[in-house]
Amino acid sequence: MSEVKIKKLHVIETSPRGDINLVCLKVETNQPGLYGLGCATFTQRYSAVTTVINDFIAPLVTGRGVDSIHDIWQVCMSDSYWRNGPVLNNSISALDEALWDIKGKMAGMPVYELLGGKCREGIELYHHCDGRTPQEVEDNARKLMEQGYRNIRVQQGFYGGNMKGCRQDFVSPTGAPEDGTYYDPDQYFRTTVELLGYLRDKLGEKVGLCHDVHERLTPVKAIALAKELEPFHLLFLEDALPPEQADWFRHMRQQTAVPIAIGELFVNPMEYIHLIDERLIDYIRCHLSMIGGLTPAIKLAHLCEAHGIRTAWHGPFDITPVGLAAQLHLDLACSNFGIQEYCTMTELERDMFPGAPVMRNGYLYVNDKPGFGVDIDEKLATKYPAHYNDNAWLRPRLPDGTTVRG
Ligand code: MG
Repeated sequence: MSEVKIKKLHVIETSPRGDINLVCLKVETNQPGLYGLGCATFTQRYSAVTTVINDFIAPLVTGRGVDSIHDIWQVCMSDSYWRNGPVLNNSISALDEALWDIKGKMAGMPVYELLGGKCREGIELYHHCDGRTPQEVEDNARKLMEQGYRNIRVQQGFYGGNMKGCRQDFVSPTGAPEDGTYYDPDQYFRTTVELLGYLRDKLGEKVGLCHDVHERLTPVKAIALAKELEPFHLLFLEDALPPEQADWFRHMRQQTAVPIAIGELFVNPMEYIHLIDERLIDYIRCHLSMIGGLTPAIKLAHLCEAHGIRTAWHGPFDITPVGLAAQLHLDLACSNFGIQEYCTMTELERDMFPGAPVMRNGYLYVNDKPGFGVDIDEKLATKYPAHYNDNAWLRPRLPDGTTVRG
């Protein structure tokens, strides 16, 4: 039985970019100087996660030994009786990742060593690129390629093609709500097919291209888009369908060989097990903290390996460098790693999270310090407090004003 016990849970909320809230948990132990960090970032509902950690997780685990990560994970998941969901999963993820960080520090090893060791030295990544016209997307893609990026997610006019300055050919009814973000699915469909054809023609076959539909189409239109994009050899087509319509992937699979990626919205194994079992997808894209942390992600990655499916964990701005590092340690140790999403870090984020992963020549690298190798400057973090943000882009509307998801 371990002498090392959980002494205190300390949540740190911060917003170094100003418009994206990050949540990090510091788990202190009864051993001086020994602590672990975990990511609990549910950026749109950050304070709800903090409440669950402070009011329910902390009293449940304080005083327990740090050794039995799997046991503690199960205890936290079953203790609320009703399970899963983004708030509960993030609160458990924070503790789970912090315990892996502590275990690595106790062992004097990076976490990837605890997971079996490296399958590779650097982690292939893809970055994001957008623009109002195909030419603008091409220019921005070329700038990324000059910086060493080999794989790029391309969008024209943000999700649904609704970026300010983009052509909008539709008319809305008198009295249509002003709230949210309007887009026309048909226009988005047409411009996306044109964009991918244009880019493949201009950039050639050497650059990897992917695209995120962000659930902006009806199921049958999503299948039609996948078929139209097949000649352009995408790395993958992402979130062509919402989780609620995932059964449509069976039909998509029968009609096209476009690689399919989905998963950032998944919060319950029931949402992805059948997609994996039936081999309906090619990349699993869960956000680690949204499924409960590193422990369930290890199991998920292994399940995918047995079915010929690769990983592409969700990793844009709404993740702490601690959470990103947790993903990368898993990437290093999985033979069925596919590609990692990465959207760069600001200098402020690097100062706030010393030891954060770095990008060189289109590859991501973690350091070889014990645990995840990432720390936090708490004083600096408190100078940039988290706060409410209006997410109008997450309230899409069709031309007639109807609210849809995505
Ligand atoms: Mg996405």
